[in-house]
Amino acid sequence: MRVEELRAGSGIRPLEYPLRETPHATIETNRTCNIQCRLCYTLERSHIKTLAAIEREIDLALEKRSLQTITLLGGEPTLHPRLPEIVASIKRRNLVCQILTNGVVFLEDDRDRLLDRLVEAGVDRILLHVDSGQSHVHQDLDEVRTRLFQKMERKKVHFSLSLTIYEEERGLMSGLIRKYSRFRYFDGILAVLVKDPNTPLAQPVGLTEEHASLERDLGILPSAYIPSSARDGRISWLVYQYFVDALTGQVLAMSPAAHRLIRKIYRILRGRQLFSIIVKPSRQRRSFFFIGLLEAFIDPRRIGRIVGMIRSSRLGEEARFQFIVIQTPPSFDPENNRYLICYHCPDATIRNGMLTPVCIADFINPLNGPLPEGELSKELYQLAYSHLGEI
Ligand code: SF4
Repeated sequence: MRVEELRAGSGIRPLEYPLRETPHATIETNRTCNIQCRLCYTLERSHIKTLAAIEREIDLALEKRSLQTITLLGGEPTLHPRLPEIVASIKRRNLVCQILTNGVVFLEDDRDRLLDRLVEAGVDRILLHVDSGQSHVHQDLDEVRTRLFQKMERKKVHFSLSLTIYEEERGLMSGLIRKYSRFRYFDGILAVLVKDPNTPLAQPVGLTEEHASLERDLGILPSAYIPSSARDGRISWLVYQYFVDALTGQVLAMSPAAHRLIRKIYRILRGRQLFSIIVKPSRQRRSFFFIGLLEAFIDPRRIGRIVGMIRSSRLGEEARFQFIVIQTPPSFDPENNRYLICYHCPDATIRNGMLTPVCIADFINPLNGPLPEGELSKELYQLAYSHLGEI
């Protein structure tokens, strides 16, 4: 998707985190997994890191970036025997801690032992990856999501849905948002457009289409976008932040201007960039009024919509603050014969001591293995590491 395809006059601007201020990194706790999702990008599936090795990676990531959030992922991180201690270690460093999991361990644990320990350790958000790429494991996705969401709700832990958008799942996000907004702790969707690890630059599902369907069905436009590494007008991530009324499904998108202002204020107050916004249910109403006021001030033409939503959401009681992020994997620019990744790769992990885009880490820098042969691997290696300031 190109910047010209965004609605003219919407005020949207690129979200370009400075290299050392990129506020997010991912840490791979283990490469083992309990299921095999269709088109998983993890090629190596046997390694489990020690707690000490993980802590060294966290500290290295902190040396390389001024982080606000770390997301733990795998493989499947809930299989790591010391996951609660890893969460506690991240929290001791005053960071937001998220876990990206397929949730299977939670489903099998009737007494919620692991979930309780993670909550106790201070996990901030659990991203539950349940989608049609697991239809060989889950017969009824809605039933599985609902069981997981009910568990999260009971434990009062924020959770989001993580999706790979396969061809058959195009245009479904609006319906999912409306369906699951009844859960107070559900705070949005992290979606990645599908890619085949064997043909890592093919792009069967388009960002343009998802953008159009969110505008048509939910009435929202993005608050910001992350450009490609070449800053060539291509969009790598679309970022939406908005309030949804859980009773009516009506949505109030955060304008690009309000989004920028909040980021700026956070940067001034906290001395680092903002990545995750997590609003507790007890503060949702206050936040809704604050953002509503801000939006009315920025654009008085929105006052009618804001007042309507205040009324329909029982004076903000049923308004939920949420996000949708849609990411595109690395791509190839045939005109200029070059590869593109996301600008400063906000999802970089530490791979063999280097900041590495997690989506291509096995392809360009395998764990404990020699660098792969082949032109594509070499070119992506060169691009990723020079873009991330590692070479
Ligand atoms: S390049 Fe980085 S930010 Fe983009 S999809 Fe890959 S890991 Fe995520």
